[in-house]
Amino acid sequence: MGTVAEATARRYETVIGLEVHVELATRSKMFCACSTAFGAPPNSQVCPVCLGLPGALPVPNHQALAYALRAALALECAVDPDCRWDRKNYHYPDLPKGYQITQYARPIARNGQLCFVSGGEERAVRIRRLHAEEDTGKSTHEGVAAAFTGVDLNRAGVPLIEIVSEPDIRSPEEARLYLQALRTLLLYTGVSDVKMEEGSLRCDANISLRPAGAMEYGALVEVKNMNSFRSVQRALEYEEQRQAAALDAGERIVRETRHWDEKRGITFSSRSKEEAHDYRYFPEPDLGPCALSPAFIEEQRRLLPELPGARQARYRALGLSDYDTGVLVADPALAAFYDRMLEAGAAPREGAALLTVELLGRLNALGASVVGSGCLVRPEQLAALQKLVAAGTISGKIAKGVLDDMVASGKDPAAIVAERGLQQISDAGAVEQAVRAAIAAHPQSVADYRAGKKQALGFLVGQVMKETKGKANPALVNDVLRQELDAGGGV
Ligand SMILES: [Zn+2]
Repeated sequence: MGTVAEATARRYETVIGLEVHVELATRSKMFCACSTAFGAPPNSQVCPVCLGLPGALPVPNHQALAYALRAALALECAVDPDCRWDRKNYHYPDLPKGYQITQYARPIARNGQLCFVSGGEERAVRIRRLHAEEDTGKSTHEGVAAAFTGVDLNRAGVPLIEIVSEPDIRSPEEARLYLQALRTLLLYTGVSDVKMEEGSLRCDANISLRPAGAMEYGALVEVKNMNSFRSVQRALEYEEQRQAAALDAGERIVRETRHWDEKRGITFSSRSKEEAHDYRYFPEPDLGPCALSPAFIEEQRRLLPELPGARQARYRALGLSDYDTGVLVADPALAAFYDRMLEAGAAPREGAALLTVELLGRLNALGASVVGSGCLVRPEQLAALQKLVAAGTISGKIAKGVLDDMVASGKDPAAIVAERGLQQISDAGAVEQAVRAAIAAHPQSVADYRAGKKQALGFLVGQVMKETKGKANPALVNDVLRQELDAGGGV
């Protein structure tokens, strides 16, 4: 093996930490009653508080704090019930107040961890801190004359949490896996819709290289503007190679912020508001300590559902394959569908395969998913289909046709089987009749079989199945056919 990445890995160790901003799914903003709905006309969701007009006073959104807590508890963080608000001061057109309310010295939570699988190994990345804050507005060029930039303040004041990892991530691929695991975890908690394409999940990365075996960290480069899981990995791969080449050439890495250019596939140095300015953080004078009560914290803990790690362990214990476990755990709606199948009595492994391969395959082809109006099949019906196969009422092959019908009509599988007369023929008499007919019709195959050409048996089985329109029980057909042939019956 000799890829560039592997050669780099031998000379240098890559050190990555991620800062992830997540918009919380509250209906109103962090410190005022304005709506947070996405896609409204510019500047239609603003008020004196989020515009920072003189005399307006912020009031913390209780639901946003509840969501921040829930995310912190899911990440196994220690909560600070007495957390504080601070002002981060800087000037930018999308920041009407001239400062952002955030948490600096006393974040709502610290010292958590996120576990995920990377390269077949269980990894735990430590979470340094999780804090609550308000979002900024957005600059826009849509509907604005060419020489101007518009400012839309609908997003100003939307509640965010920022989740900062320790520099525990060791490769660009691992950074993507961490981010995907974080997204799945947050999806389970229900605190955000975590859509990277709509900006409700945003990721900045810190990356440095150090000589393999060194303890000291190298100079840190911050990479911004990555808008998909794939671009996070690509941007960091680019940056890893760029820094390795510079170090090989004896250059010094400059501590800086760089932007990812998706089209050109490169990062470029950028001067921006984020560059090492003194933000003059100071305590927010309009807000006191949060004073989160133990009862409030415990309530949020109780509201956490079964989380991905626990669910994964439960599915593995049921004997599910890694593939099925992965597909189900990655989507809480799909996992909930599967759990209802189990409650309805489906066999774990067979039920999982029916869902992840057969039903999902059909839904994907239709551009539908198990949630919403696109899917007419209920979990109980899919469980019933699996039970029809297990009971020998229909074969696995017939079941696929029944499922096609279920997806199209939403009918119960038993009704479809009855309507179309699909019951498997497991009656020995009926099978014997079909077998004898096949033997009589194909004397050459019978002679071949008796002459030692065992593949002739497969042909005869096929003839019986054809004759019974696929409804004969295949195992029974095999048995009866062998008996008849070996007994010397027929021709
Ligand atoms: Zn407002």
